[in-house]
Amino acid sequence: MLYFIEVVLPLAVAKTFTYQVSEAEFDYVQIGMRVAVPFGKTKIYTALVLSKHHNLPQLYQPKEIHQILDDKPIVNDIQIKHWEWIASYYMCSLGEVFRLALPTGFVLESETIISSSKDEVNRDEVRDDEFLILEALENNSSITVNDVIKILGKKTVLPVLNKMLSNRLIVLQEEIKESYKPKLVRYVKLHDEFSNQERLSELLEILNNAKKQRELVLQYFQLVAVEKKPISVKDLLEYSNVSNAVLKALVDKEIFEEYYLSQDRVSFDDKDEDYTIHLSKAQQVAFNEIKEGFLNSNVTLLHGVTASGKTEIYIKLIEEYIQEDKQVLFLLPEIALTTQLVQRLTDYFGNQVSVFHSKYTNNERIEVWNRLLDNSEHAKVVIGVRSALFLPFSNLGLIVVDEEHEPTFKQQDPAPRYHARDAAIVLAKQHDAKVLLGSATPSLETYFNVTKGKYQLVTLTERYGNVVLPEIELVDIKDKYFRKRMSGHFSDVLLENITETLAKNEQVILFQNRRGFSSFLECLTCGHVPHCPSCDVSLTYYKFKNHLKCHYCGYTMAVPLHCHSCNSVDLSTKGFGTEQVEEELKQLFPDKKIGRMDQDTTKGKFGYERIIDAFKNQEFDVLVGTQMLAKGLHFDNVTLVGILNADNLLNQPNFRAYERAFQLLTQVAGRAGRKEKKGKVIIQTFNPYHNTLQQVLSNNFVGMYKEQIYDRFNFKYPPYYRLIKITLKHRDFEKLKEGSLWMYNVLKQQLNLPVLGPEEPAVNRIRNEYIRTIMIKIPVEAHLGKTKKTIQKVLNSFDAVAQYRSIKYAVNVDFY
Ligand code: ADP
Ligand code: ZN
Ligand code: ZN
Repeated sequence: MLYFIEVVLPLAVAKTFTYQVSEAEFDYVQIGMRVAVPFGKTKIYTALVLSKHHNLPQLYQPKEIHQILDDKPIVNDIQIKHWEWIASYYMCSLGEVFRLALPTGFVLESETIISSSKDEVNRDEVRDDEFLILEALENNSSITVNDVIKILGKKTVLPVLNKMLSNRLIVLQEEIKESYKPKLVRYVKLHDEFSNQERLSELLEILNNAKKQRELVLQYFQLVAVEKKPISVKDLLEYSNVSNAVLKALVDKEIFEEYYLSQDRVSFDDKDEDYTIHLSKAQQVAFNEIKEGFLNSNVTLLHGVTASGKTEIYIKLIEEYIQEDKQVLFLLPEIALTTQLVQRLTDYFGNQVSVFHSKYTNNERIEVWNRLLDNSEHAKVVIGVRSALFLPFSNLGLIVVDEEHEPTFKQQDPAPRYHARDAAIVLAKQHDAKVLLGSATPSLETYFNVTKGKYQLVTLTERYGNVVLPEIELVDIKDKYFRKRMSGHFSDVLLENITETLAKNEQVILFQNRRGFSSFLECLTCGHVPHCPSCDVSLTYYKFKNHLKCHYCGYTMAVPLHCHSCNSVDLSTKGFGTEQVEEELKQLFPDKKIGRMDQDTTKGKFGYERIIDAFKNQEFDVLVGTQMLAKGLHFDNVTLVGILNADNLLNQPNFRAYERAFQLLTQVAGRAGRKEKKGKVIIQTFNPYHNTLQQVLSNNFVGMYKEQIYDRFNFKYPPYYRLIKITLKHRDFEKLKEGSLWMYNVLKQQLNLPVLGPEEPAVNRIRNEYIRTIMIKIPVEAHLGKTKKTIQKVLNSFDAVAQYRSIKYAVNVDFY
């Protein structure tokens, strides 16, 4: 009898692969375990076992695996099913989902680059293999897994590397790139084995002969009793006044266990017993409605105005699920996942909370993964960004998707280009769990599902604690310019309000949806605008750094002194960004502290947090920022929000422009006056009578919805039509033009649907690759599965055309 396993490789190939195993391996291996497998002539990959069988493949002679990497599955059946759904719905390979889903350290392959961790290593403690690898890393800053195979002279190197990774002897190259290295703190705890009373007495008995060790264990207990939180090695040694050697002896005997946490995560004290939440009457009503809603539908939308106290409702609801011993996933857009929010949840749930952030290191991600695998008490509630969807939940009861309207829930690149809210709803179904979507400005898609009765709706129209919604004033800057009432980009009205607010020691947020100093540099003589040499965009002017920068590829050049086209020195800047707002403010309010939050100032792991915390602590009086400011941040002392130019939000070439403008403006406005003090919002615009601005002014979400949904219907856009966008790229303009036209024509022929394109996008070249797009519009009534199959067939035949093979393309289902 022959023994085979079917595996998925972390690659963009549609099929699974068959490998041969021995009878013993066949008995041992389980679905969801990883195996190291050879692939091609020289490659090694980490693959995931999908099934076991006895069927010899017809087309190829299967290779043997190198080895089994796990002693228990690290991926469960529900995950595999969910990933299969994602692959099929978003038209990518299961391998691509697998690759994205697992922390990189879990999927080592021959090309994975490893580096020394730079942590101190005690050479006496490492094993021979490890020693050789560390030695190689002393001579080279990094090596690949393939190099390790050569160094050790064997193919079976992944377990050694996995172990070294988890012991932090090595790290993956990608982590090195991160400029901010979280400080790691060494902790100790008693081995789980001694958690029960009997084993503990036994232990103390044994240690009777090792006085110092016994003493240390006792001191540990005393410290736990006072501290009620994880015990760091440093604290323990200080408290007990015992040497490190004693501790080491206990670790060697596996009585104590050491572990590392990065410093930002250690504040997860035990639950704060005094912290209780009393819902207001309106919150209580909403809470009850949500629970009732769940009796009729798996998905409920909580539409609550900004600062209505949605988070408190989530917390109360989450509590009920964990009391029933269910797991809860709390999904947030990246930026909203700040210490503020984590703190609120951990105050309430203590160390039952795990956080999953894309900026966490590989090891931290693996740690959360393992907690879930063990169904740990510390992962009852997982707060995370969109990729937290891929964690090994086994028993989900509830998924909360906060700020569900946020476009960043949709992954753009690489595949899978999934929408986390939508994928969450599918995941919940697979767990028989409920989904609560929350937003002050729901997406049209979600609200549409409400009107169709697919989702339940619960509304909260008042802010918590009698705080009133801010007063919004539109300022017509066309008129202000005409009357010369502008100082730089500030109208007299905005300036007066800023002055008043600052005089009361309250804070101000100013929103401008562009970064840099100005959008571009223009020659006043000939009109020449400097462009990026590799992309089809003008360069953004940065005054402070005195350079021009490409926002697509990062190219920079010094600001020219004269025009490169006509030599004129009459150069002027056009448009304005956050840097310029900041500079004008500094001149207008020289004695005030101004902060800035945009992509340029928030690099690094805790870039956002640093600025948010500083503003919260009132280290700045005014914070200038881009749309980053709009995402669920809470600043009690902000009473004025100014929007410098609403028009560039409205004038986006995108069918969602008005919806997005409404959401952004309402959300930014919602940052004003969140405590007792009434907030004020000033929106500067050239078009004060624009419908969308009027809807923001009167807080008329339903009005916005009705107007926009009507347009969506007329112009064949979501939610009436699903969009599939195919983006093609090539360095050769002619080849791309020809290839995309070929694809368009065949799609058009095969599909009885609107196919648009092939279009040159507004930015038609990035990093020297030309771009064309094709858009397919599929009415929701049409059979989506069949349509996708047809599209896939067309793509396959495209792949088969020799001269187009080098054209790269990406398929984006439910393009955003
Ligand atoms: P939202 O998420 O709806 O914008 P939050 O949940 O952040 O609003 O609530 C706004 C503010 O009101 C927060 O400072 C929050 O702590 C406070 N708050 C809301 N509900 C309660 C409650 N039931 N008890 C105490 N404070 C509350
Ligand atoms: Zn010129
Ligand atoms: Zn560029």
